[in-house]
Amino acid sequence: MPDPNILARRLRALGSSPLFYAEPLTLVRGDGVYLYGDDGRRYLDCYNNIPCVGHCNQRVVDAIARQASTLNVHSRYVSDIVVNYAERLLGSFDTKFDQVMFTCSGSEANDQALRIARLLAPGRGIICTNFAYHGNTAAVDEISPLFHHAPQHFAEVRTITYPEMYRPLRGLSGEVLNQAYLNEMQAAIDSFDEAGIGFAGFIFCSVFANEGLPAIPPGLLAAASALVRRAGGFVISDEVQAGFGRTGKMWGHQLMGFTPDIVTMGKPMGNGYPVAALVSRADILDAYRAKVFYFNTFAGAQVAVAAAGAVLDEIEDRGLMDNARRVGDYIRAGFARLAKRFELIGDIRGAGLWIGVEMVRDRQTRAPAPDEALRLVNLLKDAGCLTGRIGEHDNVLKIRPPLVCGIEHADELLGAVESSLEKLQASP
Ligand code: PMP
Repeated sequence: MPDPNILARRLRALGSSPLFYAEPLTLVRGDGVYLYGDDGRRYLDCYNNIPCVGHCNQRVVDAIARQASTLNVHSRYVSDIVVNYAERLLGSFDTKFDQVMFTCSGSEANDQALRIARLLAPGRGIICTNFAYHGNTAAVDEISPLFHHAPQHFAEVRTITYPEMYRPLRGLSGEVLNQAYLNEMQAAIDSFDEAGIGFAGFIFCSVFANEGLPAIPPGLLAAASALVRRAGGFVISDEVQAGFGRTGKMWGHQLMGFTPDIVTMGKPMGNGYPVAALVSRADILDAYRAKVFYFNTFAGAQVAVAAAGAVLDEIEDRGLMDNARRVGDYIRAGFARLAKRFELIGDIRGAGLWIGVEMVRDRQTRAPAPDEALRLVNLLKDAGCLTGRIGEHDNVLKIRPPLVCGIEHADELLGAVESSLEKLQASP
């Protein structure tokens, strides 16, 4: 019998730690693409990207249990399971990356990336986008304006407008649009130089997930990377959301057509077990380690690595990247059909099983519909389907199911979206 006072007790014990939904959910069990509430209801999970190979995946559970009962110790001893995994991970990139540095969270990986860039580049200035989120340490909070309640200024950070094609900068298009975005970047670099701070690098999520998964002008990210390198900075690709096959490619930068110097990863890496990392070239990480002693108590211990290895096994053996492409395209096609009936659907974006649906009040003006998006998320929950919303205007329906999501689950999602939009339309 669930405790009727649990919300009040949670508030007392945890403070106003955020919760989803007007009526918060109490979950008691997960299995594959489904989560189960304490009310006995089953929910199709179209939100959680961390359990990428499915909630409570048996192979991951067994790997964790086996390793936990064998050995789990910090990284200053030799361990073949850790070396084997590092080699396997490095083999998943097209770019020649030579070394892995383990961390426990995406925030820590990005924090390390900033330290590396700032120690090895000519200056300390970091560029991020104006609606980025990269984590919760003091350093990465400075490059995470998405969750700042009011604009804040940090001397060693400049934000630039995130690139997009649905509401492009000053309504521009084509080469002129690309140049306008690049000009902002050049101005940020110049302002670091003028302030005597100098430039260290550009960090961005390879698919701009937190910005609302916008369509990116072709060629822009390769041109931006070239500009960053000409100025002596590092290109840091945050793959915490995009990595491990989510987009149908193993890494978001492979999809988006640019070559990073440092890649950070986390979230789905251990299917929920905390494990994260960054990878880079030997020249970079050797130079860093020559200046800094980096050690991290829990990072890269054997249980974390066992979980991560089982995730790679599942992605490979079950063809989950192919599945992500096939089912993701099917869901986008389903939304395109629904868009013929529902004006609220303004734009359908994404790749693989990362789907963003921009909700608008008016397709002509593209006026964002954040309230409708929020109501839709709550209606979908009532219909047994978990989603979220994200983006600059809080109006992008965020769909990121575990990669084991099949066509039958996609049909379940699309049915729930259709009935929820009907309800929304009936009482606007
Ligand atoms: N980078 C991105 C793009 C993220 O979305 C997040 C988390 N939402 C992070 C980094 C931080 O990861 P973590 O919560 O594991 O510290």
